[in-house]
Amino acid sequence: MSSPSPASQAVISAGLRTLPSVQHCLAHLESRPDTEAIPTRRLTHCSRLFLSELREAILSGERRHEITRPLVLAELHRFVQEYHRPSLRRVINATGIIIHTNLGRSLLPPELGDLLSTTACNYSNLELNLKTGKRGSRYSHVEALLCELTGAEAALVVNNNAAAVLIALETLAKGKEVIVSRGQLVEIGGSFRIPDVMTRSGAHLVEVGATNRTHPADYQAAISDETALLLKVHCSNFRIIGFTGEVSLPELVNLGREHGLPIMEDLGSGCFIDLSRFGLMKEPTVQETVAAGVDLATFSGDKLLGGPQAGILVGRREIIRRIQKNPLNRALRIDKLTLAALEATLRLYLDEEQTLAAIPTLRMISEEADSVKKRSERFLETATAALADLCTLELCSMASQVGGGALPAQDLASWGIVCKPHSTQSLAAHQLERRLREVTVPVLARMEHESLYLDMRTISREEENLLVRSLQEALAQP
Ligand SMILES: *Cc1c(COP(=O)(O)O)cnc(C)c1O
Repeated sequence: MSSPSPASQAVISAGLRTLPSVQHCLAHLESRPDTEAIPTRRLTHCSRLFLSELREAILSGERRHEITRPLVLAELHRFVQEYHRPSLRRVINATGIIIHTNLGRSLLPPELGDLLSTTACNYSNLELNLKTGKRGSRYSHVEALLCELTGAEAALVVNNNAAAVLIALETLAKGKEVIVSRGQLVEIGGSFRIPDVMTRSGAHLVEVGATNRTHPADYQAAISDETALLLKVHCSNFRIIGFTGEVSLPELVNLGREHGLPIMEDLGSGCFIDLSRFGLMKEPTVQETVAAGVDLATFSGDKLLGGPQAGILVGRREIIRRIQKNPLNRALRIDKLTLAALEATLRLYLDEEQTLAAIPTLRMISEEADSVKKRSERFLETATAALADLCTLELCSMASQVGGGALPAQDLASWGIVCKPHSTQSLAAHQLERRLREVTVPVLARMEHESLYLDMRTISREEENLLVRSLQEALAQP
């Protein structure tokens, strides 16, 4: 940092003299209606933070224009309000990406709200068998359901699918070898990579085949006394196209049987419903995977399944029990709210007629483009009535995505609204995009060609009024 010139020294000194004391800040904040109720310790903390940031900005010359006491206090007031807002907040997902990891992946059905608060605010039979009065297992609340729905002999749930893969490998293959096709050494994002998880589990990775093709003979040649497991990883978030070939699960199962080795598949998304009827590529369902004879399958609770964050393991009883007894399971165990949400979500799968409508993720995936268009048209009318002074709104066809690393490179035809701020607003689209992230209920949208695209597929009817209000708040800001 270069030292400031004498002229700016004067500016700096004047700026520093203008800074109020912490006591003065507190008195101000405690006299204002929207900050007076905030606990004093937080007001003190915020005031110190604010003053030190401002002091820094003055000293570095970053803040040169004149500052007055009232201006500083007004800025402090906004800073405190912003700072005191809860950190984790609801947002509106207008991106059209249905399973958006940054926005919390799957939404639970709204009816689950009561169940979750009952479970959270009351005692429950989490680990108590009400029939015998003896200690029970938390897993019992979902195991039978998972077996009924997937045809598996046994099931276990942990914190997420990354945990499921880790504990499965640690239990079945620590210190031994696991054979995986080179085409399946995937990275899921957020640092989950199959080779790294393998290392952490203490298992040794044996890669076979080439990136684009692997044959049964490749596995055959790699099997040795050290082999503990044949692992298949579902390439959930990318596609290799062209001259490709993977060993099918039935082929792998046969190979495993011949050599007395278990077969595990990491399915990633874990879907119970064949989505090809919505024009999407066929994802293997969990039921088909179990029926093909896999010894263990793992999948997420909050991807295509549409439930809470969880890692689900289904498979042969003996294998599931060994994993359940692994001390790591205690560290990866699922929480009671998640269990309540998972049980309720799984119950919705019992009635196939209602599943698609009841599970938001599936409802959003399966909604016909025409239906999204009708909702968009209706929304356009309401929104135009409220926002005509501030922006131009138009109906537009769009492409939604399933997201969450599921069904990559496949678009779902969709509809939505394009929003262009009036030139009188002199608000560039990227500024609008930023403002929309900062309003009371933030809106996440796609920005292209100086316009904001709001995909209605991921916006429910209940959110429409909120969306109008958020747009209003963002567009009308001075
Ligand atoms: C998403 C995914 C995971 C990780 O699942 P989380 O529930 O996010 O922990 C692991 N494997 C595959 C193939 C996946 O798609």
